[in-house]
Amino acid sequence: MKSCISCGMPMTRPEQFAMGDVSKDYCVHCARPDGSMQSYEEKLLSMAAFIVKTQGFDEQAAAASAKEMMARLPAWKGRASHET
Ligand SMILES: [Zn+2]
Repeated sequence: MKSCISCGMPMTRPEQFAMGDVSKDYCVHCARPDGSMQSYEEKLLSMAAFIVKTQGFDEQAAAASAKEMMARLPAWKGRASHET
């Protein structure tokens, strides 16, 4: 089973893959409308917004927690440490 390199979501069905393409390494939530993968900054913003909405964190805490989560994912390994 594959999981998204950008957000870690397990991808078990074709519709969970970007553009429904099972050869892609990232999920539908991490794809732009044209099918390319969102950048680190784009993903960080959307993850932080998601954390605010689901966990009620304030924006700064959500951004910090999103950075931490992303630092563990293959697409961003070694990236987050340069950004803080
Ligand atoms: Zn994803």
